[in-house]
Amino acid sequence: MSTPRQIIVLLPPADSCDSPDALLQAAAAMAQGGTLKVLAIGSASHAPVEPRALPASAQWFEMRHAHLTRIDAEQLLPVCLEAMEQAGAADHALLLTPPGPLTEECAIRVAAQLGGSYLGRCTQLALDAADVVATRAAYGGRVSMQLVSASGFCAASWRPATAKSHTTPSAASHLPQVLPCAPTTQLPPLPQSTTIESTDKIPPLENARLVVGGGRGMQGDEGFALLTQIAQRLGASLGGSLPTVDAGWVPVARQIGQSGKFVNPRVYFTVGISGTPQHLAGVSTDSRIIAVNKDREAPIFSRAEVGVVAQWQDLLPQLLQELENATA
Ligand SMILES: Cc1cc2nc3c(=O)[nH]c(=O)nc-3n(C[C@H](O)[C@H](O)[C@H](O)COP(=O)(O)OP(=O)(O)OC[C@H]3O[C@@H](n4cnc5c(N)ncnc54)[C@H](O)[C@@H]3O)c2cc1C
Repeated sequence: MSTPRQIIVLLPPADSCDSPDALLQAAAAMAQGGTLKVLAIGSASHAPVEPRALPASAQWFEMRHAHLTRIDAEQLLPVCLEAMEQAGAADHALLLTPPGPLTEECAIRVAAQLGGSYLGRCTQLALDAADVVATRAAYGGRVSMQLVSASGFCAASWRPATAKSHTTPSAASHLPQVLPCAPTTQLPPLPQSTTIESTDKIPPLENARLVVGGGRGMQGDEGFALLTQIAQRLGASLGGSLPTVDAGWVPVARQIGQSGKFVNPRVYFTVGISGTPQHLAGVSTDSRIIAVNKDREAPIFSRAEVGVVAQWQDLLPQLLQELENATA
């Protein structure tokens, strides 16, 4: 009989780690009969994620690296690798991270370093004998693909649909004792940088908590100027669909979707976007969508939590006025 696969959950510092609870519960359920090791990474200025209640067999390791000042994959990778080594991570393991550009890059690089496989941003994961069975979206969400990997070491980014469905009521949960790891690894030097004041007054899409997105329905620069003002008032980032980039209304770095960027905001406010699979492939399933569209049959409404059937020309000037009044 093969040894059970070890489950390792890698958590970046709390300020870069959005709601890890569902992942931890699902990982605990998956580790039944095996080992669950949680590695919480942090530094003096970036607190690690606080321990959560887990089955008694789970271990919670914490590595605070004093020199981890910039939270990017370059700096995080050596810390993760050392934390894994100190925590006794096995070769026959499944490493799980929350989804997001930072943790995904880390997981890919850890898998490459250890000669394992990276399974991508998964919607479902299961262990089947020696194999890891992963389900993930492909072709802009039009296809659901199942991957079976027998690699000794596998890594995946995963946000389970609900914590509830993975909870094991029989497992006696308790708050694990934190096992500190002592970092010894030298971090790569930060590159010499010169600060150039950006002329772009809108925050980037990466890690934005609130994103305002415009589509072809915005009809041109005038519409986007209004959306930009709204985004600025809200402190939100601004993005657009592919046609808006093609039309030159939005810079290419702000394209959201299958061939653009993946965003993971708490709220995505869309205006004049129809909601094609190619566009929504770039939006986390965790993001709550508020949509404005003049067509009540627009597909975006089947994904939006709040939908407004309206012409933006009627709605946005009023919205901007309200925001200006509120912040005056
Ligand atoms: C390989 C491939 C990759 C792709 N990658 C991407 C990608 O990364 N990102 C992406 O976005 N697309 C991508 N696409 C394109 C995608 O298929 C769609 O064409 C695109 O998402 C549609 O953008 P849209 O919603 O802005 O435009 P449309 O689908 O034209 O929708 C415009 C919407 O605006 C509404 N509207 C019009 N006027 C108003 C008004 N006055 N007020 C309110 N609503 C109004 C309309 O009712 C309509 O629903 C890709 C396509 C392919 C084939």
